[in-house]
Amino acid sequence: MKLEFNGESWEGSRKYEYKGNKDVIKFVLFGKEEGLNFEVRVFVIEPGGATSLEKHQHMHAVLVLEGKGSALVDKKLYDIKPFDGIFVPPMTPHQFIANKGERLKILCVVDVDRDRPQRLSEDEILELLKDERIREVIKVQ
Ligand code: MN
Repeated sequence: MKLEFNGESWEGSRKYEYKGNKDVIKFVLFGKEEGLNFEVRVFVIEPGGATSLEKHQHMHAVLVLEGKGSALVDKKLYDIKPFDGIFVPPMTPHQFIANKGERLKILCVVDVDRDRPQRLSEDEILELLKDERIREVIKVQ
C-alpha cells in the first residue's frame, strides 16, 4: 500500500487533534490497523508552538522532516533541523518546540501499547527553568 502525500496530509492517514493544543496536528501513518506493534506518526507543529512538556515510560524515536526548532530532552535543549534524529529514553522530560516563523514537522515512532504521558512535577519544572536558555524556549503548559 501507499499513503499518498498531497502536500498537506496523507490520503487515508488518520488525523488527530493533539491534546486540545491547536498548534499541533498529529497524523498516524501506520500502526495497529496494519498489525504493527509500533506507530509511525507525523506531528506538525505551527510556528512558535510546542508539543506537551511531559514524561512517560514509552520511548520516542524522532526524525525531523521539515522546519527548525528545539528539542528538550531531559535537561538538554537541542537545536533541531531536517534529518536530525532525537531519542527520548523512558521517563525523560521532553518537548518539541517550533521556531518562530517555522512550521516544524517531525516523524515519531512509538509502541502501540504505551503508558499515559505524565506532566512534570513542580520541582522538575523549577529545575528546568533555572537554565536561562531552557526558560526562554520551553512552553510550560
Ligand atoms: Mn511524549
